[in-house]
Amino acid sequence: MNADIFAHMGISARVAEELRTAAHAARMGHTGSAMTHAWLFTGPPGSGRSVAAVAFAAALECTGEIVGCGVCEHCQKVQKNAHTDVVHVIPRELSISVESMRDDVVGPAARMPTVGRWRIVILDDADRLTESAANALLKTVEEPPAHTVIMLCAPSTDPQDIIPTLLSRSRHVYVPQPSIEEVAEILMRGGIDQDVARLAAAASGHHIGRARHLATDKATQERRSAILNLAELIFHGDQAFQAVSDLIKNAKTYAIEGLAAENEREIEKLRMSLGMGARGKGAQKALEGSASQIKELEKLQKKRETRAIRDVLDMQLVDLMGLYRDALMLSTGVNLHPIHPDMQGLAHDLVKVGPEGLLACIDAVQLCRAAFPQNVRPEAAMDAMVGRIRIACKVR
Ligand SMILES: [Zn+2]
Repeated sequence: MNADIFAHMGISARVAEELRTAAHAARMGHTGSAMTHAWLFTGPPGSGRSVAAVAFAAALECTGEIVGCGVCEHCQKVQKNAHTDVVHVIPRELSISVESMRDDVVGPAARMPTVGRWRIVILDDADRLTESAANALLKTVEEPPAHTVIMLCAPSTDPQDIIPTLLSRSRHVYVPQPSIEEVAEILMRGGIDQDVARLAAAASGHHIGRARHLATDKATQERRSAILNLAELIFHGDQAFQAVSDLIKNAKTYAIEGLAAENEREIEKLRMSLGMGARGKGAQKALEGSASQIKELEKLQKKRETRAIRDVLDMQLVDLMGLYRDALMLSTGVNLHPIHPDMQGLAHDLVKVGPEGLLACIDAVQLCRAAFPQNVRPEAAMDAMVGRIRIACKVR
């Protein structure tokens, strides 16, 4: 039997068993202890906590003979995020406001299901709820409509991540971080070659989403090569500074291009809702008011861009740290699974820097990562990092 949606989506056995039982209970109409209306999925980023929620949503909507068959129309649509009754909210902002909470979660949760058995709202990154937004959600979680299921996803049950009142009203499922082998397995099930899957799983730091990107997206692979190459360029005069400036340029293009279509859609939607393009009496006045609303939106979009650029660079810095960590392991003779198995040659070269120097390199990268959230310009932070690494590597 086990070829159901949970197996197909690579959900770990223990988690799958619990969700399977709940989905069965729901199908039988038992909404007691086995099935609940409010769920909290926790696990470190990349553990697949929201993948588990999506698989569960599919199993709840499934009309196949096996609960969560993975092949019926409902299972398929939920997986593709194309099911009318399943709303998957992925917050873009660093904090979720009361307004967006009402529009995106509470509103949709209040509606009746149309084609499916349940109305399901999945909220990613629920740790970004502001306190007032969390309170606005409380009532829905406490007494959801009979056909509604709310699934929250957060890193942990720590009060910093989820307020205790929401936690106490939800059923908690912990989704553990998958091993490198498990991540590789998930990628291979998606048709990726074993060698590529293994390398991506290791280099991504057990992060399923990043691993999939790394295995399939050429631009991601190039960004990784570029940052790892920086460790070599440190020894070649000013080339490292030039490389950093290219890296930042590339990150900007990538982040801005990635958001462009959505930004445009948002502006267009706002213009429509403001009735821009209307003529006649009062239109001019309305136009002036609208202009300021559009400016506000553009400001928000700019902020989002800045954050996306930092996220791209931060991911690259994690790669670079991994390389120095691999070299440190080699230089101290500790036998651990390398983070970048394909870059062991360069890691061996870096052994000459010595354990102390390599530790200083890791510190330099950490310092740079810590500077990003403090609004230091990426150029300044990364140039300082190169300077520190050069000193650590005794380059003059
Ligand atoms: Zn199905």
